[in-house]
Amino acid sequence: MDRRTFILYAGRYTLLSAMAVMGIFGLYKRKKVPAEVCILTGNCRTCTELGSCNLPEAVREKALQ
Ligand code: SF4
Repeated sequence: MDRRTFILYAGRYTLLSAMAVMGIFGLYKRKKVPAEVCILTGNCRTCTELGSCNLPEAVREKALQ
């Protein structure tokens, strides 16, 4: 294997590895909060799930906005 081929393969597999890691991270981040579990214990104003959350605290916070 010459140097050019080695660099080409190294770049290709580095890029594929980075894409796989980003994909796994994206799937992990997309996990939704189950309806009956609060992830921030009542701090709805700063919670990223406020739009899709239906817990009583979230409903109250949405009504105030
Ligand atoms: S929006 Fe409020 S109740 Fe719903 S998960 Fe977030 S902090 Fe908990």
